[in-house]
Amino acid sequence: MKKRWISGALACVLLVACATSPTGRRQLILFSDGEVAQLGLTSFEQLKKEEKISTDKKKTRFVRCVADAIVHQIPASYNYSTQDWQVELFDSPDVNAFALPGGRIGVYTGLFKAVNNQDQLAAVLGHEVAHVLARHSNERLSQSQLAGVGMVAADAALGDASYREPAMAALGIGAQVGVLLPYGRIQETEADVLGLQLMAMAGFKPEQAISLWQNMAQISGGKKPPEFLSTHPSDQHRIDELSRQLDAVTPLYTKARELGRKPQCQF
Ligand SMILES: [Zn+2]
Repeated sequence: MKKRWISGALACVLLVACATSPTGRRQLILFSDGEVAQLGLTSFEQLKKEEKISTDKKKTRFVRCVADAIVHQIPASYNYSTQDWQVELFDSPDVNAFALPGGRIGVYTGLFKAVNNQDQLAAVLGHEVAHVLARHSNERLSQSQLAGVGMVAADAALGDASYREPAMAALGIGAQVGVLLPYGRIQETEADVLGLQLMAMAGFKPEQAISLWQNMAQISGGKKPPEFLSTHPSDQHRIDELSRQLDAVTPLYTKARELGRKPQCQF
């Protein structure tokens, strides 16, 4: 692990392949946004073939309503602000959701075991979209490329089946293909911070993120942890961190409400 980090830092220096994440962290980025977006789109089409799409119209409407409100608040400084985002609800007991580069969001019906209202779903989707905005997939693909895993994002995007599983794992949807490759702790914290900002800017109650993670902690313990529970920080640490962030995002929420951003998504 340490070795990989060192080689990552070296590549940063030698290849000038460094970028800065939204929270000011240095990142190794070896792929173009276009390549990773194509990979996300290809993987999503694959998932749509493999997974059952829910026929529950009410819940599908609800999920799209919350997702729309979130993606509308993506700052213009990101490539993704003008992206055509698409959202699907998959019929599966997995307590999970994901967002992919290329502008695709998937929610599993099992997530409703943990989500009781629009604000809690906004917390999940804010977190997942934040992974995309912070280019975490690109970072992870770059690290595996450097570690000599031999996966070429462009080939996977073109549909070469032998690259599909590692590619999907790198995108954070590995649980669906039997390989779970969790995001790192730093990436998780970054997604938590950015996700909380996004939900507040969309007019969702940020304190509901805490309730969401508490629900998650209660129902976790299954054999496949969902993406957002799959790595440390521990639930309690995460809840403490989010509580600390609340003061900082409350003004964003207040302003959003003043601007009339009052989502009313129901299921
Ligand atoms: Zn995550």
